[in-house]
Amino acid sequence: MTSQHERIDFDVVFIGGGPASLAGAIRLMQQARQKHIDLQVALIEKGAEIGSHAISGAVLNPVALKELIPDFLEKGCPVEAVVRDDEFYFLARQKAYKLPLVPRYMHNNGFFIVSLSKFTRWLAGIAEDLGVNIFPGFAGQKVLYADDGKTIAGVRTGDKGLGKDGQPRANFEPGIDLMSKVTVFGEGAKGSLMGDVCSKLNLSEGKMPQVYETGIKEVIALAADNYFPARPANVIHMMGYPLGLNTPGGGFIYEMKDNKVALGFLVGLSYDDPALDVYDQFIAFKRHPFVADIIKNGRVIEQGARTVSTGGYYTIPGLAAGGGVFIGGCAAMHNTPGLKGIHLSMKSGMLAADAILNAVEKNDFSQDSLWAYQDLFETSWAKEEIYEGRNFAQALAKKAPAKLIHLGLQYLTRGRGLQDPMPLEEDFKTLRPFKTGEAGKTPLAGGKSGAAVDGVLYPDKLGGVYLSRTMHREDQPCHLVVHDADLCVTRCYETYRSPCTRFCPGSVYEIEIDEATSKRRLKLNPSNCLHCKTCEIKDPFRNITWTCPEGGEGPGYSVV
Ligand code: SF4
Repeated sequence: MTSQHERIDFDVVFIGGGPASLAGAIRLMQQARQKHIDLQVALIEKGAEIGSHAISGAVLNPVALKELIPDFLEKGCPVEAVVRDDEFYFLARQKAYKLPLVPRYMHNNGFFIVSLSKFTRWLAGIAEDLGVNIFPGFAGQKVLYADDGKTIAGVRTGDKGLGKDGQPRANFEPGIDLMSKVTVFGEGAKGSLMGDVCSKLNLSEGKMPQVYETGIKEVIALAADNYFPARPANVIHMMGYPLGLNTPGGGFIYEMKDNKVALGFLVGLSYDDPALDVYDQFIAFKRHPFVADIIKNGRVIEQGARTVSTGGYYTIPGLAAGGGVFIGGCAAMHNTPGLKGIHLSMKSGMLAADAILNAVEKNDFSQDSLWAYQDLFETSWAKEEIYEGRNFAQALAKKAPAKLIHLGLQYLTRGRGLQDPMPLEEDFKTLRPFKTGEAGKTPLAGGKSGAAVDGVLYPDKLGGVYLSRTMHREDQPCHLVVHDADLCVTRCYETYRSPCTRFCPGSVYEIEIDEATSKRRLKLNPSNCLHCKTCEIKDPFRNITWTCPEGGEGPGYSVV
């Protein structure tokens, strides 16, 4: 907290402009108004605008939204479509088999399909009307602690205008210290600040490690003669090809307005094959005859990638510390079997808001006081829903047939299964060494060696980056910190053939030969970064740390 940094005081600061923070901020202001309490509340978002880091196309269970804004439809909530029915397919190499049963947690009838980008912008408008100060383009860079070293006192936003060498340029603007009685961490999966708080305050002590899936999502405009709304079911889930039964993951297609669809594909980062290229698998999924027929003659108009925390109930950290609470994806608020998390993120923000208001009334922002949020969560429908999936990620990480036996028994016993709790292994530990002769088994993505791309319906990796509208100022310190670049071309290359070149969907990592020395070296293209965080999670040596680039940068997901 040096004098270089301007200081602004608020009662509550929300970090992150996703559904968790926005719902929390709205609930807090609604309740404060009812009780005639004047609160100064700020919300910062690292994207250039609210919604620019929220990838379009998601199924929204409206249960939390109805609690928050009962007349949400009258208030103009942007809905792409209402779910008519769900279908679930198993994809063999050439055929698709419709499963007779859609698991109960995947029943979405009557739910809403939304563009997350549009939805968060709409929520932000409501929050602003209630008096929340929203600051897009500001990334939280550092958690500020009180003198006791363990009470959270606020957040410092990132400096702007540093050069590649870390030195200030003419337009330099130092970060601002946003001081608050309560800081609400709603950064989404693998939040950088959340990681700092968790390790400093031991919030994950006694919890299972978090695990993740990486999702690549697109919005596709379909041809007029290929009318998706004519289908009886407008939510389609698929598993099987190309991942098979041993690698967790699958795909989906949802209806969006004006004959567009949201298409997504997720890979569980517990996969063990070092040759697996996440983007190539995505293209192979789209090229399956069943999927290709649904999207034929279409055009991708947006693409993006993000990780989701899927570990479930046993991975949820302690939800409160002195001066801080943790909500949404960074607190693992996700229904992994049901592939939905927006309503749980919103509910966590709303429960946190209730506890914060209670703390304001008592003027007590200690961990004991804010722990009311943990208590509210434990007795909520959100906990009940997440609890049913408490062993799901563990079962998914197993190979067939054990996977199917565990999943089946968990389904029958509402999550208990054969072993409760089942242990979880961190994603960075699961890669097996590359076998000689394996190179080339999985074609390298980016259209370099056979990925079936066409630049229109099947963009390559760089085409996907373009379609995400990702922007970064070139002259700034690299936000991807590789702790030991030598390790990348020695132990990592020798053991795993540099898997960062395959798990990164943005083609950020390349191994090239230095012409002068004829030695391998790592080349980084940080301006392609989609902020998905896969590299920090999956790197087998924990050699990469993702840090936040300047606020206002990264993807520019929009209103499609
Ligand atoms: Fe994702 Fe890391 Fe690649 Fe950025 S560099 S796109 S965070 S894997």
